[in-house]
Amino acid sequence: MVDSTILFHNGSVFSTEGPPDCWILIKDGKVAARGYSAEQIKDLNLDNATKIDLQGKLLTPGIGDAHIHVGDVGWGREASVTEPKDSARSKDDFVNLTREYLASEKWLTINDTVNNFEALGWWDESYVPDLETLDSLVSDRPAIFHRRCLHVMALNSKAISALRLDSEEFVPPANIEIVRDENGKAAGLLREGFNLVSEIRVESSTTLKRRIILGLETCVKAGLTQVHACEGKEPGLIEAWIELAKENKLKIRVFLSIFYDAFVDLKTRNILPKQGVTFGDRLTFDRVKLFADGALGANTAALSKHYKQAPHSGIALESIESMTFKLTEIMDQGYRAEIHVIGDRAVDNTLGGLFNSGYSIEQIRKFRHILNHSQIIRKDQHQRIIDLGCSCSIQPQFVTSDAPWVYESVPDELHDALYTWKTFLDLGIPVHGGSDSPVEEILPLEAIEAAIKRSDGNGGTFMPAECLTLREALSIFTHGVAQGVRLENKIGSLLPGQLADFNILNGSLDDTSVQNWKILESFVEGKLVFKA
Ligand SMILES: [Zn+2]
Repeated sequence: MVDSTILFHNGSVFSTEGPPDCWILIKDGKVAARGYSAEQIKDLNLDNATKIDLQGKLLTPGIGDAHIHVGDVGWGREASVTEPKDSARSKDDFVNLTREYLASEKWLTINDTVNNFEALGWWDESYVPDLETLDSLVSDRPAIFHRRCLHVMALNSKAISALRLDSEEFVPPANIEIVRDENGKAAGLLREGFNLVSEIRVESSTTLKRRIILGLETCVKAGLTQVHACEGKEPGLIEAWIELAKENKLKIRVFLSIFYDAFVDLKTRNILPKQGVTFGDRLTFDRVKLFADGALGANTAALSKHYKQAPHSGIALESIESMTFKLTEIMDQGYRAEIHVIGDRAVDNTLGGLFNSGYSIEQIRKFRHILNHSQIIRKDQHQRIIDLGCSCSIQPQFVTSDAPWVYESVPDELHDALYTWKTFLDLGIPVHGGSDSPVEEILPLEAIEAAIKRSDGNGGTFMPAECLTLREALSIFTHGVAQGVRLENKIGSLLPGQLADFNILNGSLDDTSVQNWKILESFVEGKLVFKA
């Protein structure tokens, strides 16, 4: 009789410390044992176990993504016919892509109720659509084009009126920048206005669930075993997640990082689950997402100095005072915070908010709050980050995307503070790897490669001293992702007793690059969830 014991042998079993093992024994969804020599297997009495010959393949702890917008990935798959890499870089590109898309009529299914036209990832830094062009393309309904970072959007006239941007009664929400023409009329560009736009996007639970499944399917196919999903802009999205989890529709582990507004809403309605509560074995409420600033490409990340090309230092979405209030409110509910910080001034405001929260340093450390993106962190900020027990969530693919222009944008004094991941690790600051998809594509091996190579897109290396080794890069996407949910003792390194979440790949730890690697299989708790 075959029992639930599976032996994977004759392979290379990754270990975050020390040399790899050659076999691992999985029993009842957990790691029962592992070892470095085939001799050891003989003593295990495995007559009834299933034995799988890895034929030299690599077995790693489950690869994860510590920052991803699963709902938006699903939304993007419906709202965009292009991959982010094909974003329009000129007016002709933009007009052609949009015409092609409109002709496909696929966009009519985007929204059940309002019938807006929304598209994602259609333009990047090199081209900004204007109102006239947008109106000439879509004139019968609101059209909203998001830049792929989601921090800037271009609107047609119908969208401007749907959002009442030119109405007398319109009260501009704080921190949203509405670009206006010389007569004070909205000119069609909106910075940091995603939540405002969400208000005119009312969607059914069926649509939201379909979108989540579509997004999660993309994650599973990419070989991920766990995602930290940043969700909750749309009303009803969190409830849709819970329903799917209860219906056992989630194949991989999902840890929710819920938007602050959704957190307040759930709290007010007395339906906020306790931190750490899990639905259907797969969906865990982990943390609350705050935004301290915008993005570098949009000149809205909050810096301590002026941008090179703009007469300002970006937009701090929270002051130290408002940060203190929100962080205290979050910790009072037993939740941890994940704070979007791209510029160093955003980091100052966040750390200041934590210090002023009224919680002791010892108490704050236990929450292990996460600084998300951590793109510009000055040397003098390191010790405060360590003292407060914070960690850094990073997206290595950003370096390759940003390197061509970032030195032209960020002031010289801050250049040595850019994407300093190796420094974080050397200082003992935990680092969690992710993609921020749909901003970057969900390609974990590409992300690992980006952390190793830090390619500047021009044949060079962006700050070579900050390159990670293959072992470090693989660790931040396995063990590091588990650390991001404080579960490094349960998942992420395949030590005996841990849950058996793992991947099988055709790669070797002796390689200096993962370029030719492929994720062949993914397992969650010993069960196969994906096969290439
Ligand atoms: Zn994000």
